[in-house]
Amino acid sequence: MSRVYNFSAGPAVLPEEVLSEVQQEMLDYQGSGQSVMEMSHRSKVFEKIIQEAEADLRELMAIPENYKVLFLQGGASLQFAMIPMNLMKNKVADYIVTGQWAKKAWQEARKYGKAVKIASSEDQTFSYIPDCSDLPVDEDADYVYICQNNTIYGTAFKKLPDTKGKLLVADVSSCFLSEPVDVSKYGILYGGVQKNVGPAGMVIAIVREDLITEDVLEGTPTMMKYKTHADAGSLYNTPNCWSIYVCGKVFKWLKQMGGLKVMKERNEKKAAVLYDFLDNSRMFKGTVKKEDRSLMNVPFVTGDKELDARFVKEAEAAGFINLKGHRSVGGMRASIYNAMPVEGVEKLVSFMKKFEEENR
Ligand SMILES: *Cc1c(COP(=O)(O)O)cnc(C)c1O
Repeated sequence: MSRVYNFSAGPAVLPEEVLSEVQQEMLDYQGSGQSVMEMSHRSKVFEKIIQEAEADLRELMAIPENYKVLFLQGGASLQFAMIPMNLMKNKVADYIVTGQWAKKAWQEARKYGKAVKIASSEDQTFSYIPDCSDLPVDEDADYVYICQNNTIYGTAFKKLPDTKGKLLVADVSSCFLSEPVDVSKYGILYGGVQKNVGPAGMVIAIVREDLITEDVLEGTPTMMKYKTHADAGSLYNTPNCWSIYVCGKVFKWLKQMGGLKVMKERNEKKAAVLYDFLDNSRMFKGTVKKEDRSLMNVPFVTGDKELDARFVKEAEAAGFINLKGHRSVGGMRASIYNAMPVEGVEKLVSFMKKFEEENR
């Protein structure tokens, strides 16, 4: 067996320890004689899996008691609609547009009310985070929305925006569990798990309890009310059992690694290896304003499209895969999520050095 170094933005690398455990349990999950994919979501065995997953996540993130943890389907993209449907009581919401995902969320919300773009970094291809210290927040805004880590462009909010007392809603898909967060600063934070946590097909939404009500926009489908899922402990209908199970294993792995503070230090160290190289290279350059750099997604270019393409091709042949940048940016992007080992980044940098020397 040989494993590659996978720099995919998502679905993405998972901890090898977790994959091995899953493999061992595949045919007979802990003496149940079946795999987790085959068992009833109403069984005692699965009940334990989902409850432990929630408890471990609560511990990792220090989630306050007045927040619900919901395991939902539809990916992060379904939240683009669920959020306005559940929160737009005044039918006004403010959006900070720092990339494609925030833009999509904003565009979706416009179907349900007045969604105002109060800040944007689109003027410079989303390569920075706008100043959010004095935003024109609407007096009637039901919430202020951000995408905390911009997967495609490689920027991240280092400081949360001043929402002037309004509720903060954040898409944390690509920075979920990469560092400690103060959950109490958010009304809702949510993330598709296929970036930094587990297998695709699930989003985890952490929602403040008072926001979970029957008072939703008229016509909101049952499946799209937070209340439906909160009342049923995420078991209103059949959930993504497989993803819940593997995410639960990743939570245990993260606890064993030392928790989110340790992960943050590790992620900072890992990102520094790559950014330091980019800052000193004559061939490769980062594309993002330094202060706003993401710890998770690192886009870079050579400035020559043909050279970029050759780099991606040769890197792949050397076992560094999925380094091609998003089609809207071009160049390269290395996603270095929690499960990417430090050696993976060190080896990538060695490869880049060699490539630079050979192609000067
Ligand atoms: C990938 C991604 C999404 C979309 O996720 P899906 O689960 O495919 O809908 C949304 N937001 C961010 C920040 C992402 O990285």
